Amino acid sequence: MTTAILGAGLTGCTLARLLAEMGEEVVVLEAAGDYGGLCRSVTMDGFTFDLGGSHIIFSRDEEVMAWMRTTLGQNREERHRETKCFYRSRYVQYPFENGLYDLPPDDRFRCVDGFVRAVIAAELAAESGEEAPARTFLDWIYRTFGDGIANCYMVPYNEKIWKYPLDEMSAHWVDGRVPRPPLADVLRAACGLPTEGYVHQAVFSYPASGGIEALVRAIAAPIEDRIRCGFCVRSVRREEGRFLISDGKTTVVADRCISTIPLQALIPAIDEVPPEVADAVGRLVYNGVACVFVGLQAPVPPFSWVYLPEAELGYANRVSFPSNYSTGAAPSGYGSILAECTYRPGDPVDTMDDAALIDHVLDRLEAMGVLSIEDVVVTGVARQPFAYVVYDLAYQESVRIVREFVAERGVDLVGRFAEFEYLNMDGCIRHALDYVRGHCRCA
Ligand SMILES: Cc1cc2nc3c(=O)[nH]c(=O)nc-3n(C[C@H](O)[C@H](O)[C@H](O)COP(=O)(O)OP(=O)(O)OC[C@H]3O[C@@H](n4cnc5c(N)ncnc54)[C@H](O)[C@@H]3O)c2cc1C
Repeated sequence: MTTAILGAGLTGCTLARLLAEMGEEVVVLEAAGDYGGLCRSVTMDGFTFDLGGSHIIFSRDEEVMAWMRTTLGQNREERHRETKCFYRSRYVQYPFENGLYDLPPDDRFRCVDGFVRAVIAAELAAESGEEAPARTFLDWIYRTFGDGIANCYMVPYNEKIWKYPLDEMSAHWVDGRVPRPPLADVLRAACGLPTEGYVHQAVFSYPASGGIEALVRAIAAPIEDRIRCGFCVRSVRREEGRFLISDGKTTVVADRCISTIPLQALIPAIDEVPPEVADAVGRLVYNGVACVFVGLQAPVPPFSWVYLPEAELGYANRVSFPSNYSTGAAPSGYGSILAECTYRPGDPVDTMDDAALIDHVLDRLEAMGVLSIEDVVVTGVARQPFAYVVYDLAYQESVRIVREFVAERGVDLVGRFAEFEYLNMDGCIRHALDYVRGHCRCA
């Protein structure tokens, strides 16, 4: 049994390793000149940056977390998450609802008042039996956090990252997954008593050297010789039960085909796609991310990363400080910054050239007091067209149509843009593990 895996990002490399450990023949076909996908990193003058945006290693999934730790071995450091939201020229503890004490008093009142009203409204609805799940993401935000937290932070931040009307986004992916914070925690936070949200992320790991790419390199090490880079999959056909996969020059023959590449790349490679499937894949919404890298001959604020909800802070929705992630991420005594700006095709970030985007980010970071331009020693930009799945209201129907079609053609889907799900690295590894356990005869 030979398995062809399309795409050598984290998911493709994990699948290849797990299948090879089961004794299977695998070949991994990757369009780019190197493997790693969103988990690639670059080192410039001693500063290492993650090309797909700042990545940290964390998980609630203990098996996956243990697997990542073991795979990285000694090349791993741990840090306490120190995360903020920059709001009205001040740093507010993250999650925002745990940082209300850091707000000006008028906002603190608005946020507590709105939150208490939201809790009461939810309890009354539950008692009367009229509780219906939120349909839109906007509705979910207001119901979960109340109008104070919604208007100060949740709405502007989410508008900035998703670049999509929040009342046209579905609530299904957050409803039930992100619980309303306990009232007592929010009240404690507003009174200045310490509380911590998102505790599964409170301590995170990061490679001591090599950036996040070190993780995917460690995973791929035993199967590196089975990865064919520069192979852009353009056609996937089935003949007599076997898959013929071609880049237009050579054809690879396999018994099984697992795709980890975006559906937007896979569907055009399949022949005789019905119009309703082509339409459905065309309706799937996603964002790209432009990452601006800055190396400084000066330290950076003592934070892991900072969310930037306000439009005045420019296009970046988040800035992280990789030099605070591990000792090898920047030369000793120097600091580094990675600013993420999501974009949609044709919007200002997409059309801005790299030099203008760097100037824009440096200008806003200097205005925030994060850096002085004269300390900047390294800059760079990397753009990833496939960064975030956007869950619009048509998502569930569109993705169902596409998945059913792909299943009929016998191709299996695993990974962030192959399944078209908001999967983090741990989710990708979990899906790869489950796939191998469910499909491999030797497992
Ligand atoms: C800004 C940002 C921050 C993130 N931060 C974190 C974090 O802190 N922690 C975390 O756990 N996760 C994080 N993630 C998520 C993480 O990056 C993904 O879960 C993971 O990298 C997805 O891996 P993948 O292999 O499924 O997809 P990809 O990495 O997208 O891999 C797909 C591969 O397919 C290749 N490909 C595409 N088309 C073709 C074709 N036609 N033929 C052949 N190959 C092709 C691509 O080149 C790529 O190598 C973050 C993501 C983003 C965007």
